[in-house]
Amino acid sequence: MLKDIIIVGGGVAGLTAGLYAKRGGMDTLLIEKMFSGGQIATTYMVENYPGFDEPIGGPELAMKMEAHARKFGLEILYDEVAELKLDDRIKKVITTNGEYEAKALILCMGAEPKTLGLDKEELFRGRGVSYCATCDGAFYKDKVVAIVGGGDTAVEDAVFLAQHANKVYLIHRRDALRASKILQDRLFQNPKIEILWDTVVDEILGEQGVEGLLVRNVKDNSKKELKVDGMFVAIGIQPNTGLIQGKLTTDDGGFVIADENMATNIPGVFVAGDLRKKPLWQIITAAADGAVASISAQRYIMEEFA
Ligand code: NAP
Repeated sequence: MLKDIIIVGGGVAGLTAGLYAKRGGMDTLLIEKMFSGGQIATTYMVENYPGFDEPIGGPELAMKMEAHARKFGLEILYDEVAELKLDDRIKKVITTNGEYEAKALILCMGAEPKTLGLDKEELFRGRGVSYCATCDGAFYKDKVVAIVGGGDTAVEDAVFLAQHANKVYLIHRRDALRASKILQDRLFQNPKIEILWDTVVDEILGEQGVEGLLVRNVKDNSKKELKVDGMFVAIGIQPNTGLIQGKLTTDDGGFVIADENMATNIPGVFVAGDLRKKPLWQIITAAADGAVASISAQRYIMEEFA
């Protein structure tokens, strides 16, 4: 069946695009492979989204956004997209269970955490290696954990982990954090957190799961073993580009390049959220992208399919 707009991905950008599309009277389908909310569904607390002057849980905010979009009649299909056919005027979305067509697509597949690429990192995933403190932090009650990274995620997660664990090492490869000042202040004030500056992880130690880390100071090359029960990795995000590789113009990191209308190099294909190359990946910029992409898609349809 031919839809006006199909949105791929039900994170903040996708849900906002859906809300705007339905308010604009568009016949719209959003396809999501897992659950609504994307990365905020695994975020402990959100305190920088305007209008919520008290911190709100990420999953709760995600549910509110989904409910808000559904209130305007957004149809959400839980299915995995296997292929996108973008070349023709009518775009095709092939999922595991069906095939859908649309006049315009808004791609909101988001991003996922980067990995360190260490031996045993993949093997011990779920056995001491985690990329989501909110999801797995509670397993480390009264234990010792390490978190790698120096951005907002690592610092926020370190403070969160300290609510559960006895001790948290924050391992950062430089001597200065990239995280925002307010988060850094909380980190420095927390007596359970020890920061290992200029330090990288060379090896994950353990037989059946994480038992420790071999870390190295990059300035003097000294090495030491840290006894930890878990390692969290928060070293940034990489875009989910599997469906668009070789089809859309991206930067070297794989983030899709779009103009200020969220239009990609293919007419009728728009992008929004963490998948897009931009200077700031936050909830508010994902929502803004979704709104702009949706309005642009509506204008495109009115002009091209009048
Ligand atoms: P990020 O800002 O890209 O920071 C990644 C950190 O990991 C940097 O400190 C980087 O070190 C380090 N790193 C990168 N590759 C590494 C490697 N191979 N080995 C060791 N360390 C490595 O990523 P993020 O913290 O996940 O944040 C992503 C986006 O989400 C940002 O725009 C951020 O502002 C946003 N965010 C916002 C909030 C909030 O507003 N509350 C919370 C979470 C995330 P260098 O500093 O040396 O490059």
